[in-house]
Amino acid sequence: MAAFLDSSIEFLKGVGPQKAEALRLELGIHTIGDLLSHYPFRHEDRSKIYQVRDLTSDNVQVQLQGKIIPSGIMGQGPGRRLVAQFSDATGQLELVWFKGISFLEKSIKPGAEYRVNGRISIFKGKANMAHPELELIDGNSAAETLGRALVPVYPLTDGMRRRRMDNRFMAQLTSTALRHADYLLPENLPQSILEKFRLPNRSDAVRELHAPTSLSNLEIAKNRLKFEELFYLQLRHLMIKGNRDRHSPGLRFDRVGDSFNTFYKDYLPFPLTNAQKRVIKEIRVDMNSGKQMNRLLQGDVGSGKTIVALLTALIAMDNGYQVALMAPTEILATQHFYSLQESLGLMPIKMRLLTGSSSKKQREELLAEAEDGQLNLLIGTHALLEDQVKFKQLGLVIVDEQHRFGVAQRAKLWKKGQTIPHVLVMTATPIPRTLAMAVYGDLDVSVIDELPAGRKPVQTAHRPESNRAIVMDFLKKEIALGRQVYYVFPLIEDSDKLELQSLMSGYDTVTQYLPTPHYKYSLVHGRMKAEEKEEQMQLFKRGGSDIMIATTVIEVGVNVPNASVMVIENAERFGLSQLHQLRGRVGRGAEQSYCILLSGPKLSENGRKRLQTMVATTDGFEIAKVDLELRGPGEIDGTKQSGVLDLKLADIRADEAILVAARTEAIGWLAQDELLMKPESSGIRAELAKSPHRTLWSKIS
Ligand code: ADP
Ligand code: MG
Repeated sequence: MAAFLDSSIEFLKGVGPQKAEALRLELGIHTIGDLLSHYPFRHEDRSKIYQVRDLTSDNVQVQLQGKIIPSGIMGQGPGRRLVAQFSDATGQLELVWFKGISFLEKSIKPGAEYRVNGRISIFKGKANMAHPELELIDGNSAAETLGRALVPVYPLTDGMRRRRMDNRFMAQLTSTALRHADYLLPENLPQSILEKFRLPNRSDAVRELHAPTSLSNLEIAKNRLKFEELFYLQLRHLMIKGNRDRHSPGLRFDRVGDSFNTFYKDYLPFPLTNAQKRVIKEIRVDMNSGKQMNRLLQGDVGSGKTIVALLTALIAMDNGYQVALMAPTEILATQHFYSLQESLGLMPIKMRLLTGSSSKKQREELLAEAEDGQLNLLIGTHALLEDQVKFKQLGLVIVDEQHRFGVAQRAKLWKKGQTIPHVLVMTATPIPRTLAMAVYGDLDVSVIDELPAGRKPVQTAHRPESNRAIVMDFLKKEIALGRQVYYVFPLIEDSDKLELQSLMSGYDTVTQYLPTPHYKYSLVHGRMKAEEKEEQMQLFKRGGSDIMIATTVIEVGVNVPNASVMVIENAERFGLSQLHQLRGRVGRGAEQSYCILLSGPKLSENGRKRLQTMVATTDGFEIAKVDLELRGPGEIDGTKQSGVLDLKLADIRADEAILVAARTEAIGWLAQDELLMKPESSGIRAELAKSPHRTLWSKIS
């Protein structure tokens, strides 16, 4: 049977050399096997026939049946089109084609009965249909699709449409291929897995997908093929990870020594949450496993990742290794430096800060200390990646807020040790569990899914700009109670100059309501020098100012527990994850905190949904889910090269349960046959050996 599947597509009836060439070029279909793996991306329910009378809504896909009379070719150049009148017993409708005109004109039989499938558009109260698909009803034609309720719709390219290789062509071709073989595709999932989940075999599933027999059978077939797709996605991730584990031995941190214990006993400022304890345990096990740790630590804003990072760092130091902590902005690196210094109190740990604005002298000292091993902990920005930064014994790299760092940048840090250091990546952009698995399938994931006790959820309101005066009164009251306020303006088109302008005019507006010198301000924006920013931050932090006016530079990580109000101007211009990050700046102390989202009167549907979501929930994972729905997985940070976009059938948004099952099975399978050497793994081996034609998928519109 393999021979049949591997034979050229040209051997199929209806495919001459030209069409074969087009299939190769446009869709990457070389063989009959390729053709059968070219899945329809949806199915149309053609059990229903609409009547012209009932066509009142725009942009819906319908099927009609009636007679067609061509009115001829009209217009010039790009406007050249074939027009025809369609009529059934209830009314008339105009059909238009812009492509393949002369062929169509010749082939339409005036007055004959047709099935017409297409999308309705209503123009000036009249319905019409562009590029409908036609099927002549004359007893013997197109038996494959006619009368069948569920018709597969295949991805096509413009190049194919130009050659009149349309959906019907694809459907016919596929059904010819299916007719020529009873048993088609070799099974690529282990029998035990098929039985466990009662999945149909591959051959039946593929057949059902191309030629559905019922809606429920189609669902079963699709689930099987989605499972297969996700199983292989996960298997590939896990094999990369397994390979790394086998070939790059990790440093073994088997000591929990003085630093960790002293800190835990004498310096820990609060009891850890259970989630923090669990995560620290996971990390300890990792770092003592003899394998290199690659762990993603997810935790919503304010969940307390910093203390986890610190305890992890102490373990590395107790084992005689140095630690690098990298943050995406100077403000954040600086804040980490001071807050860790404070936390560590009198403990004998040597730490330093390296940023773009470190002086030459500071740099020289610090580089020398890192290289001769005196330095225990180096905190910094991208500056840590520079080649001059060398460590004597780098054992752990912690990357905070990783979505700002590229993969290549991270890889550069790995290279700074003789043995690859352990890596802990912390992110406050909660990625839904499914996406994390799909995207970071080769990392281990820890989640802090619990906020410290006593936190009150931030109360969030959406107000029109016209209510600004009321909002300002509210701010006055809060400030009178001793609280502090963040007041944030959006970045405008990435232009520093405009940013400054809008920030200054915003500042003027705010001070009209809350005048200086009675109210004291800090101001932070992207054009400031690092020291100035830091000075303004510190001023706010120690309570020297009531209101912090800022652009989104404060988005990430800043921690001022007494600040309990966040106002965001033009909130509709921010993305959901950004709004969530911003809101995370408040609600860090014991007081009730507030977030006020101001917007203009005109909101896009999407913008409204974002603001509504912010008002409705403070759960970062919930927000991430909506964000994913609104933007699609391709727009979520870090997913672009992950391969999740190339999935043919599975949709990680909708198919979470299947993804989880597929991952569990993939882990289980590798646990008992790591190198896929057993006979039961031969199907898997064969599948992995095939070079996927998946890159071609992205060509399809
Ligand atoms: P994030 O996860 O956003 O980086 P941080 O580490 O900045 O959060 O912690 C947010 C705030 O919560 C800080 O003020 C921190 O001191 C405090 N915090 C962290 N863990 C706990 C805890 N277990 N109990 C009480 N407060 C905590
Ligand atoms: Mg943080």
